[in-house]
Amino acid sequence: AVVLVTGANGFIALHIINELLKAGFSVVGTVRSPAKGKILDNFKSLYKNPQLVLEYVPDISKPDAFDEVVKNHPEVDFVLHTASPFSFGVGDDNEDVFVKPAVNGTLGILNSVKNYGHNVKHVVVTSSCAAILNFDKFTDHSFVHTEAIWNPMPWDIARTNPGLAYCYSKTVAERSARDFVAKEKPGFTISTVNPSYVYGPQLFDETTGDLNTSSDLINQAMKLPHDAPGPFNEPANMGIDVRDVAIAHLITLQDPEKFADARLALACGYFSQQLFLDVLNSRIPELKGKIPVGDSAAGKKYIAENVLTYSFSKTEQLLGAKYISIEDSIYATAKQIVDYESAH
Ligand code: NDP
Repeated sequence: AVVLVTGANGFIALHIINELLKAGFSVVGTVRSPAKGKILDNFKSLYKNPQLVLEYVPDISKPDAFDEVVKNHPEVDFVLHTASPFSFGVGDDNEDVFVKPAVNGTLGILNSVKNYGHNVKHVVVTSSCAAILNFDKFTDHSFVHTEAIWNPMPWDIARTNPGLAYCYSKTVAERSARDFVAKEKPGFTISTVNPSYVYGPQLFDETTGDLNTSSDLINQAMKLPHDAPGPFNEPANMGIDVRDVAIAHLITLQDPEKFADARLALACGYFSQQLFLDVLNSRIPELKGKIPVGDSAAGKKYIAENVLTYSFSKTEQLLGAKYISIEDSIYATAKQIVDYESAH
């Protein structure tokens, strides 16, 4: 079967494409430009004859951005829409930076598929736990975040901060996708994969020099001077390994009927910056003495008191999941960075 993957050069998308090629799917990937697509040449060293072609979509904010690609590939059976901006601060207009590409990109691909993708059976939108988090309930541990919870923050609050604006963009994009399917009743079903903060190795070492937003949080902890003053509490949230995120996307395509309308929320545990330091100090000898030790017990206490409660057991049952641990995910991220930097 043939899968269209948007944002094909992204951290998560490269792992998804790797799983798809390994499982025998053919892939049509979209990237903004040939320069952005270069990284995908590396698949030629992993697979003899990778069934992978690239198409160029310079700006997903444009409403008809995906029309040509979908028209040019009538053979596509499934679509994975991963492209969406994720950062903690660029530009000054959070609506242009986050909301327009997230919402227009999602509605745009659904519309193109409805109009021209007559072979498409299922579309997976990479949403986020950002669409689930209720920031008013972070310290209310009687409030359990599940697959049924939606981030309720209105735009007039979210717009003031890039992190919150990002969360808003993912929330509205996912809602728009679900509303689109309910209203338009297209000839395909959808599901969403909602990862928490994604860590783990870059699929190809070279992107280690230019890290995506979530992985860079670990990189930042690795660069703290040993005498940096604590406490090292924030960021503190839930995390998941990129390899498990990729497998969740793959599994939905292997049994699309089972996953129609599913909302797959992914988390393997909690982290804080202190947990990064704990893992780095105990498992990466090269960093010993160079970074702070902090206070491990205080870090655990901070998480217990300040980080939201969640239960994603519905997703775990659907996926039959056994996730990579948060400690192993942090370790894999950091080890690759250390090895890359010592070689360059
Ligand atoms: P990356 O930044 O590595 O990938 C994002 C992809 O989206 C890139 O291919 C990027 O292209 C593309 N993109 C962004 N904005 C535009 C635009 N305006 N026009 C065209 N393409 C665009 O991030 P991740 O791999 O981490 O994220 C992938 C998806 O996963 C996103 O939807 C994100 O919201 C979601 N997610 C990520 C989490 C994380 O912790 N990493 C957690 C939860 C969800 P380019 O490289 O050219 O900018």
